Amino acid sequence: MIINSTQTGNFSKPAPEIIAEKLLTWFNPAARPMPWRTLDPEGPLPSAYGIWISEIMLQQTQVATVIPYWKRWMKTLPDISTLARAREEEVIKLWEGLGYYNRARNILKAARFICTHYKGIFPKHPEEIIALAGIGRYTAGAICSIAYNLPCPIVDGNVIRLLCRLYALSIPAATASSKTSEPIWQLSAELVQSADKIHHPMGCSFFNQAMMDMGATLCTPQSPDCNHCPLTKLCSAFQQGNPLDYPLRKSAPPLIRREDIALYCRDSKGRVLISRRPPGVRNHGFWQLPMLEEIKWEAAYHQFAKINLILGKGLLCKVSHNITRYQITVFLYPGQVDGKLSLDENLRFVSEEELKALPVTHSHRKLLKKMEEKLF
Ligand code: SF4
Repeated sequence: MIINSTQTGNFSKPAPEIIAEKLLTWFNPAARPMPWRTLDPEGPLPSAYGIWISEIMLQQTQVATVIPYWKRWMKTLPDISTLARAREEEVIKLWEGLGYYNRARNILKAARFICTHYKGIFPKHPEEIIALAGIGRYTAGAICSIAYNLPCPIVDGNVIRLLCRLYALSIPAATASSKTSEPIWQLSAELVQSADKIHHPMGCSFFNQAMMDMGATLCTPQSPDCNHCPLTKLCSAFQQGNPLDYPLRKSAPPLIRREDIALYCRDSKGRVLISRRPPGVRNHGFWQLPMLEEIKWEAAYHQFAKINLILGKGLLCKVSHNITRYQITVFLYPGQVDGKLSLDENLRFVSEEELKALPVTHSHRKLLKKMEEKLF
């Protein structure tokens, strides 16, 4: 259900071509510089590969955080063929710290598919792009519009907020931040198609990027900067004096607390015992200190004993972090081997140098850093 409050007020729906014109005029020079962007309207369009990587990295991550990751990635894996030949561990290492590691695995999978089916050239048709691993409707729209200047719509949290305010649309709280709101997709399509009709060499590319920038810099969730917005005269929420009423806010679900226990064990050469997370779990393939999830010390002691590890008493340190709806605290205790521990490719002792080259989960990097500070 979607409610258009302008239907009952005196304010008429602004014409999409006027909105498109205003946003294109605003975008350049107001655009945020980003290394994957081309801001010269006469210049070549940016590469689809670079836009693809940037869009996947930007999911749940701020632009400022993504920039160094993107630069490092493009330097190491400058094209799709190089990426397709890379080992998964190398790709994950480049992604380390960004989280949601399946995104990186899907990129690798898609790159290999592109090499097999499209001779290493990123496809151009939206239906081919959306069929690639890890690419949804938003990302396909972003790549098609930004890199190929096609009139393809985009809808994310920023665009939902901007369009809901612009047209005074109220949508149910449950869908306010999702990408499933069909009326918003329709509006977004109408707007980018209007941008396509304007005489501008990068109309669709710049228009969609303008919507992204507007939502991120001016039409922000808590304090929209309407005084500097090019759309004030067209904006229903501004005219009504209540931009913060759109879209309806979603109440965040309460966090579930979880406690994990990790074990810190060094051998006679000072090497640290680490284990690899198994397939089928979050962050699989990543390394960490041996750990048991959602457990108390006594139960952990018995579980570790089954693989010949002795969990000691006396907390060494702890770290807390949030993942989706969980607030997780990892408690680190000293540990020893009882002499019969069987090491293999998923459980081994590594030196400091070896550890630096391996992908390690963010929370366990923090634990290791704390231990390094304690010991040296
Ligand atoms: S006028 Fe204000 S509420 Fe309306 S689009 Fe601009 S920043 Fe957002």
